[in-house]
Amino acid sequence: MKNKIRLISSILFVLFFLMACSSEKKEKTIVHSKLNYSTNAFEPYISAKTIKLHHGVHYKNYVEKSNMLIDKFGFNGKSVAVILKKTKNKEKYFSLYNNLGQALNHEIYFNSLSPKPTTPSKQMIEMINKSFGSYENFKKEFIFAGSSHFASGWVWLVKNKDKLEIMTTSNADNPLTQGFVPIFTIDVWEHSYYLDYQNKKSDYMKDITKNLLNWDYADSVCFDLK
Ligand code: MN
Repeated sequence: MKNKIRLISSILFVLFFLMACSSEKKEKTIVHSKLNYSTNAFEPYISAKTIKLHHGVHYKNYVEKSNMLIDKFGFNGKSVAVILKKTKNKEKYFSLYNNLGQALNHEIYFNSLSPKPTTPSKQMIEMINKSFGSYENFKKEFIFAGSSHFASGWVWLVKNKDKLEIMTTSNADNPLTQGFVPIFTIDVWEHSYYLDYQNKKSDYMKDITKNLLNWDYADSVCFDLK
């Protein structure tokens, strides 16, 4: 009898142990990345008020909703890229796709900004020249693409094989679902600029492109330096 009790309690102990392990293993698929700078570091181009709201509220909500919906639909353990590809254009996953796309896009956006000036490396300049003719021309085309994007979305520098391209996506779409490598992005949803620029989206695009783009981050993604 005693042995039986011992055996049952051992089994129960192992079961509880396994349950505890599996619940601990449920790591969050995407986290709310810390801002590497103070909220006023991007002034005068982006105000602390905008950064606090954008990073601290909008981005955070997208991350929290994503993880909740990943749990609900049982996508735990899969990568963000895989989940986005599996849920794209599927009505059932509309909310998960959009929240996760937005969570990832914001992670890339905040990495794409640097308050201290950075410049493209020699290797990057070569790619820019090959793809756009010149750095000046790249900036012109990038500003135009972001300024003229209709409604909510994103303007991207992407890698397509050995060339760079500029593209825009609407709502929560990320170029990775179309086979491109996202190098950096600027958010052109109104919440990213309206407090500081009101309807002057092209001024926001010009200020960010000329003063805040993080070319060190671009290098690390483009040339796999991570
Ligand atoms: Mn945003």
